[in-house]
Amino acid sequence: GEPVLSVRDLKTSFFSQRGEVQAVRGVSFDVYPGEILGIVGESGSGKSITCMSVLRLLKASGRVIGGAVDFDGKDLMQLDEADLRDIRGNRIGMIFQDPMTSLNPTLSVGEQVIETILRHRQASRAEARARAIELFELVRIPSAAERLKSYPHEFSGGMRQRVMIAIALACDPKLLIADEPTTALDVTIQRQILGLLRDLQQRLGMAVILITHDLGVIAEVTDRIVVMYGGLVMETGPVRTIFATPRHPYTQGLLASVPDLRDDSHQRLTPIPGAPPDMAHPPAGCPFTARCPHAMAQCQAALPPLFGDTQAARCWLHHPDAPRVPGVNEVAA
Ligand code: SF4
Ligand code: MG
Repeated sequence: GEPVLSVRDLKTSFFSQRGEVQAVRGVSFDVYPGEILGIVGESGSGKSITCMSVLRLLKASGRVIGGAVDFDGKDLMQLDEADLRDIRGNRIGMIFQDPMTSLNPTLSVGEQVIETILRHRQASRAEARARAIELFELVRIPSAAERLKSYPHEFSGGMRQRVMIAIALACDPKLLIADEPTTALDVTIQRQILGLLRDLQQRLGMAVILITHDLGVIAEVTDRIVVMYGGLVMETGPVRTIFATPRHPYTQGLLASVPDLRDDSHQRLTPIPGAPPDMAHPPAGCPFTARCPHAMAQCQAALPPLFGDTQAARCWLHHPDAPRVPGVNEVAA
């Protein structure tokens, strides 16, 4: 079918007196109805900036300098602010890592849900309140009607995240963008929230973009993934295929740094030796060259394209003429 969201060659930079920082350097991906797309990468890889660019929520020093984002037949990069506001929080829901920064501490949570509904829908207060109760039940907040009166600080971190999900779902979005939604939570609560997201996604049939640095999260709930590094897509494909046979040395490094994804530890990505590239002066070639165990002369000289289709990897080793490297472009012995 048709993608819900189509991102094409998106480029975003931040500008300061010190110059330009190229945070996103030409990112393309599609999100289809009813799927959870994971965007994974270390901090600074450009994954959050990509999604903030899609919603045009960049802070003042950031600017989308190229590309197109098709949502519902419209290029979000071309819309005026009023149309965008209508899409944000209405057709596209958003949740972030720390619900405390997104919730208003001086308003009851019920009031915040009701306000969101009234901002986007023709409804009476009573109808909005009834909908708010329905939403609290949907995200499994016990004693929903009662809890509408509570203030954010009266909730636990996990319950606050449920409130944020309720607000994000208030207007039945076609797409939900969740940026590190469980990072601040302990493992048990994290698992409950992920289960809830998966369940809601299936029941409501929406598409979800889940941004995370946590491969455990990715393994648990996503259908397809985009692996980002240095502001670029390094590998993309179905999550099972990539976990079974990663084709990009960076993805391989990420997966190797997690001892066992089936255990409950939800380990964070242990950084691969070396540091990510300086995005104020991104390398001309493959951004992973300095850390890659297989780097060749070609890698420094030119940026590789994405090789492959269903599973694609941005690595010169997948060029038809590349030398054979067991475990990367050849089955390991
Ligand atoms: Fe490594 Fe070269 Fe592939 Fe980059 S292009 S990941 S440096 S082998
Ligand atoms: Mg981030």
